[in-house]
Amino acid sequence: MLVVGESLVGTTAARHLRTLGHTGPITIIGAEGHGACSRPPLSKAVLKDPAADHTLGLALDGLGADVIRSPAVSADIRRRTVTTADGRQVAYGALIVATGADARRLAAHGQRGELVLRTLDDARLLRGRLADTGSVIVVGAGFLGMEVASACAARGIPATVVDADRPLQRILGDHLSAEITARAAAHGIRFVQATGFATLTGDPVSGVALPDGTELTADLVVTCAGEVPCTGWLGGTGLAGRLGVGIDHACATTVPGVFAAGAVTYLRGDGTRPDRRAPFWSNAVAQGRAAAASALGLPQPGPPQDDYFWTEVAGLTVKIVGRLPLLGEPATVPGSMADGRALLTWSHADGTSTAVAYGLRKPVAALRALAATPLPPSP
Ligand SMILES: Cc1cc2nc3c(=O)[nH]c(=O)nc-3n(C[C@H](O)[C@H](O)[C@H](O)COP(=O)(O)OP(=O)(O)OC[C@H]3O[C@@H](n4cnc5c(N)ncnc54)[C@H](O)[C@@H]3O)c2cc1C
Repeated sequence: MLVVGESLVGTTAARHLRTLGHTGPITIIGAEGHGACSRPPLSKAVLKDPAADHTLGLALDGLGADVIRSPAVSADIRRRTVTTADGRQVAYGALIVATGADARRLAAHGQRGELVLRTLDDARLLRGRLADTGSVIVVGAGFLGMEVASACAARGIPATVVDADRPLQRILGDHLSAEITARAAAHGIRFVQATGFATLTGDPVSGVALPDGTELTADLVVTCAGEVPCTGWLGGTGLAGRLGVGIDHACATTVPGVFAAGAVTYLRGDGTRPDRRAPFWSNAVAQGRAAAASALGLPQPGPPQDDYFWTEVAGLTVKIVGRLPLLGEPATVPGSMADGRALLTWSHADGTSTAVAYGLRKPVAALRALAATPLPPSP
């Protein structure tokens, strides 16, 4: 068993291979010198507190896996081998592709100083730079951009978030976006809606230019403009396209003996559903387990998709179970959005529901139960 990528999916799949009874060799190829680490705390805790650096490890203890820390540079699916940057050629019976994604960068060729947040090293660099920064521009108002802006606000640094869409609107829809934008503003996070793509200005980067001619500058500019699946090493295999590596519900790719999971993948559409990426934590865990079972030729351990997602904005945790994006108004809203404590539900045309705990301490299991309950239609 060969797992390429030593992060959430890689460690989950390796552990699950053992749980399912695999006693043969497991090799993991990783690219980060410090080993596997959990990414959600990078934008929530690590930017604020150096002590958080030590709480991120994803351990491989007791698994008896061989770990090679040198990135995979190519794969030969006919001979079933993967080659690493340090020249090793590793043979496999089954391969699990778990190379995740990199931050999408906006800098022009040769333009220096763009900051992104994907790795522990990125987070440490950014935390250090925030120590003597008077203002920050964040490009991108998705969950990552809003978390970075929230960390700036928590440190008393004025942050301006720039995007063509309103904060979190693409994934959470208009209703929650409006609430979150208002809450962020009350915490000193300014939002500037652009009419199109922002470009980075200065070398090193010191601002952004918007399509309407507006130019904004700040001490620090952080790009949170999405991610790019890490598939370069799969060149020539036919496994990867623009959205990453296509998989089915069993995490099987189109190549025999090759499985894939997590942020490097997209779920192939089936005529009724389009291709879909879901690069979130709980989905990576569910797919890591599914890929391990499939690699062993065993039935699926559970649903291969998990649609639990959470984020933190301006000191408030938002937990969501169910399909996204959330269109229209919620069907029910017990609690108070203004007080930052509400439980919202949306019911979709296909009979499924989405439950959202907005600032409420609600166990995920309870949210799952609520999302599974038939609800009145959303207005
Ligand atoms: C800052 C941040 C905050 C997040 N917060 C949340 C959150 O609050 N909620 C949520 O649901 N999700 C969150 N996510 C998303 C979540 O962390 C990802 O979905 C998850 O990390 C995906 O796991 P993965 O193992 O598929 O990929 P990754 O975590 O991207 O790991 C892939 C690994 O493969 C390695 N690799 C890449 N190329 C190669 C190669 N050629 N050879 C060997 N190794 C290679 C990489 O170095 C990396 O270690 C966050 C992500 C980030 C970056």
